[in-house]
Amino acid sequence: MKKLLILGGTSEASSLALVLAPDTRFDTLLSFAGITRSPRIPPVAYRIGGFGGAEGLAAFLREGAFDLLIDATHPFAARMKWHAIEAATIAGICLLGIARPAWIPRPGDNWREMATMDNAAQALGDTPRRVLLTIGQKDLTAFRNTPQHHYIIRSVNLPELANLPPDCELIPARGPFCLEDELDLLRRIDVGVIITKNSGGPATEPKLEAARRLGIEVLMIARRPLPVYPETVATAAEALDWLDTHAGTERGV
Ligand code: NAP
Repeated sequence: MKKLLILGGTSEASSLALVLAPDTRFDTLLSFAGITRSPRIPPVAYRIGGFGGAEGLAAFLREGAFDLLIDATHPFAARMKWHAIEAATIAGICLLGIARPAWIPRPGDNWREMATMDNAAQALGDTPRRVLLTIGQKDLTAFRNTPQHHYIIRSVNLPELANLPPDCELIPARGPFCLEDELDLLRRIDVGVIITKNSGGPATEPKLEAARRLGIEVLMIARRPLPVYPETVATAAEALDWLDTHAGTERGV
């Protein structure tokens, strides 16, 4: 049996855990950062909290006698990706990165790409607007400097009150989201603009289709350059193929 650590907090990590739970070739541990206050309990063993940098993760991998590491963290979790690469090198174990492709604009989209959240806040302009923020809870402070707008904030957790812009309302919700629901939401809240990170992936993409159909502007926060893994795939399904080649035995479900 191979010992596998998955760095998670994403839909890819959850999908892997679901498929690997009954797979007797792997002893799988899923790791969460601890950002989400009530994570969905996975069907494999899990742990919560940082490792203490790349060195800490390398020690964890060595002490736990792990054979394989999959970095399935979010495309905006830039620090952890560098740590995963460094730790796998120090510990001398096989690493696979899941690099979810970014969304790209399609005909009919009205996107403006933004380098930072501050740029996006400034790009809203002086005239008060109704804005949907689907950026998670960590980066909301940028919008405290542009208090003239009304913000509707959708996130899994309720954000810290101190981080909120003055004129806002909260919609707690966890993806995946479907197109019909996104169309309903955008019509109901009547926003002129959506601000989102370019997370990529199908789970939260329907809001972009809904924005296209309703002619709503999107301020898209661009990804920062990500590290290059020794081996990379784009999806959880491809990661399972990679695991097949590293299992050493036939699929044992
Ligand atoms: P980050 O800046 O790359 O990571 C910050 C620190 O959190 C890391 O240095 C590490 O602490 C710890 N950490 C991150 N992922 C971890 C994991 N899976 N298991 C254990 N520790 C982890 O990441 P972030 O942007 O704060 O995101 C935190 C988590 O939320 C990630 O797991 C990511 O997949 C998930 N997430 C992030 C976003 C986003 O927009 N950033 C969106 C959806 C989900 P140590 O250095 O102490 O090990």
